[in-house]
Amino acid sequence: MSTIFNKIIKREIPAKIIYEDDDVIAFLDIAQNTKGHTLVIPKESTTSILTASEDVVTKVNLVAQKLAIDLVKIFDAKGVNILTNANEVAGQTVFHYHVHVIPRYTEDELKFKTSNTNFDLDEIYNEILSHIKQTH
Ligand code: AMP
Repeated sequence: MSTIFNKIIKREIPAKIIYEDDDVIAFLDIAQNTKGHTLVIPKESTTSILTASEDVVTKVNLVAQKLAIDLVKIFDAKGVNILTNANEVAGQTVFHYHVHVIPRYTEDELKFKTSNTNFDLDEIYNEILSHIKQTH
C-alpha cells in the first residue's frame, strides 16, 4: 500500500529529513509529541514490525538508537521513548513501518496510560510456552 511516507521518500511532499542512507530515512514528526520527536522508516514498503523482515527491523532500529543518542545530546533531553505501533488497534495511523523516537524532558506533557488488569499470569505464561520455545 502506498502511503504518505512513500511520498516523503520520493520527495513528492516536504518533510524535515534529518537522516538518510540507502535503506532508511528519518524525519521530524509533523505533530511533535515532544521537542525532537522523529520518525525512522525503511525505504522498503512494509506495513509494520509484524510484516517487516529481520534485516529491515535491524536497520531501522540501529538508526533509531543513533538518532536517540544524538537527539538527547542536542536537546539536553533526560531520556527517550522508542516505540512502534502495529495495526489500528495499537494506534497505527500510517501503514508503513515506522519507529517513533521521542526525547523526554523533566517537564514534558506526554503520558502513556496504564491500567490495572486482572489477568492470570500463570495461564498466560503457560499458553505462550505451549506455542513457542523459551529460547528462539
Ligand atoms: P502512528 O500513529 O504510529 O501510525 O504514527 C504516525 C505518525 O506520522 C504520527 O505521529 C503523525 O503525526 C506522523 N505524520 C503523519 N503525516 C506526516 C507527515 N507528512 N510528515 C511527518 N509526520 C507525519
